[in-house]
Amino acid sequence: MSTAVSVETVPSLIGGQWLQLEADAYEDVYNPSSGKVIARTPLGCAAEVDRVVTAAAAALPAWADTPVVERARVMFKLRQLMDERFEEIARLVTREHGKTLAEARAEVNRGVEMVEFAAGIPSLLMGDSLPNIAAGVDASCVRHPVGVCVGITPYNFPNMVPLWMVPVAITCGNAFVLKPSEKVPLSAVLLGELLDEAGLPPGVFNLVHGGKPCVDALLTHPQVAAVSFVGSTPIAEAIYKTGTAHGKRVQAAGGAKNHLIIMPDADMDQTVKALAASAYGCAGQRCMAGSMAVAVGAAGDPLVEGLVDFSRKMNVGPSDPDVDDAAESVDMGPVIRDAHRQRVAGYLDIAGADGATVALDGRRGDTEDAFLIGPSVVDHVAPGMRIATEEVFGPVLSVSRVKTLEDALALGDNCEYGNGAVIFTQSGYAAREFTQRFNAGMIGVNVGVPAPMAWFPFTGWNRSFFGDLHVQGVEGIQFYTRQKVTLSRWPRPDQSHADPVWKTSR
Ligand code: NAD
Repeated sequence: MSTAVSVETVPSLIGGQWLQLEADAYEDVYNPSSGKVIARTPLGCAAEVDRVVTAAAAALPAWADTPVVERARVMFKLRQLMDERFEEIARLVTREHGKTLAEARAEVNRGVEMVEFAAGIPSLLMGDSLPNIAAGVDASCVRHPVGVCVGITPYNFPNMVPLWMVPVAITCGNAFVLKPSEKVPLSAVLLGELLDEAGLPPGVFNLVHGGKPCVDALLTHPQVAAVSFVGSTPIAEAIYKTGTAHGKRVQAAGGAKNHLIIMPDADMDQTVKALAASAYGCAGQRCMAGSMAVAVGAAGDPLVEGLVDFSRKMNVGPSDPDVDDAAESVDMGPVIRDAHRQRVAGYLDIAGADGATVALDGRRGDTEDAFLIGPSVVDHVAPGMRIATEEVFGPVLSVSRVKTLEDALALGDNCEYGNGAVIFTQSGYAAREFTQRFNAGMIGVNVGVPAPMAWFPFTGWNRSFFGDLHVQGVEGIQFYTRQKVTLSRWPRPDQSHADPVWKTSR
């Protein structure tokens, strides 16, 4: 936190008005490629939360009553605007997050797919009906919006994770309050501008900033109906408990420790490339990053040799073209903050002290302005070591060596998380056993990052998710709607004394 005054304060959007709110405390927003402060996020207070939720609640009735086809048309327009301003959106992601432009473009594409999914929502919102379910009685079941929905999002996907929530929530007829990560609030501001330009009525989408006090005020506000959270596991669990204790429906996605199983028959060249992309993409700051390679049998030595050889040649540098002309050729950009770089580096010391072998050390000294740390490979990682159990969230790939596929499956059974897991093999039998039995919700077969696209749910298991309905796909629609069943009987006027007891076959 700082009280810098020379940089712009990130605006909030309340009831259609952009406001630069004063706050007692601010969080600096950095460009991780330059190490410079580019904005400051006001850490809002409970009074602002009440104001923003009240504004959302005021916009709700008219929006919920707007024909779904018209609501969906806002998504068609948003899709068009995102296409037109695609490069600007991606560059802003790179600027405030540090991922490479290629990674930022991939992120924005995933966000666009969520908008496309939401644009098709009229068909998915159609209800069920069954005429004459009892004599003269017709039944129907339709979906209604739940009300004011809140999204609390992490720093690692500044554009995509808000788009996991906002398009589906609002096309379902809800009003929305987004509380983005204080580390990357600028992409959320741009999203607010785009939604406004797309024709969304004022107050349907709102933006507020802040830390724990702000989140607590949102979780306990009586007019908030639903909360979507994505972030680390301890916070996800706390959000789930507090939100549900206050009567909200909550979906809370948490952290991960994703296993990558390498069978001895895997194509090692392809596998090494896929593993490096999985572990070091976005500098390891992905909830679906492969962080624990498990080499089965003879796969161990060639895997570690291949990984070390491939990874040490990776081009690590500032990723923002406004900071460095060579940014477009960078394979891996900086991590989010200097403190995070130190934390990631610390895990290499911890792993060494716990008895693992640091086969490739990505530390570069701290003399650069950018928050850079290169790829690391840690070999001979054993169960129970901190590096085996804790989410590092940086470019560090652990390698564990086991004898059999059964041993690899057991590692999954003992893992507290359960986001993704991947197998590299040419054996259909091994792939099938793995797919059926590994203890995680998103499985890849010869696919490094099995992150489902918009049409499928993002199905984290265990302590990677708290709640029951996940983001994306039909589950997302179920989360943002509640069902209403109607039973109707219209007796003939001359039978107004008809028996009010239903006549069915029993
Ligand atoms: P984080 O948990 O620190 O922050 C997430 C959000 O919670 C932010 O908006 C933050 O302001 C807020 N927050 C932080 N501390 C809080 C507190 N004490 N009380 C209430 N709110 C609080 O996470 P992060 O560092 O921004 O993001 C990285 C984490 O997110 C990693 O653990 C990663 O695995 C996870 N993640 C998970 C998924 C998934 O789908 N499972 C996707 C992306 C990221």
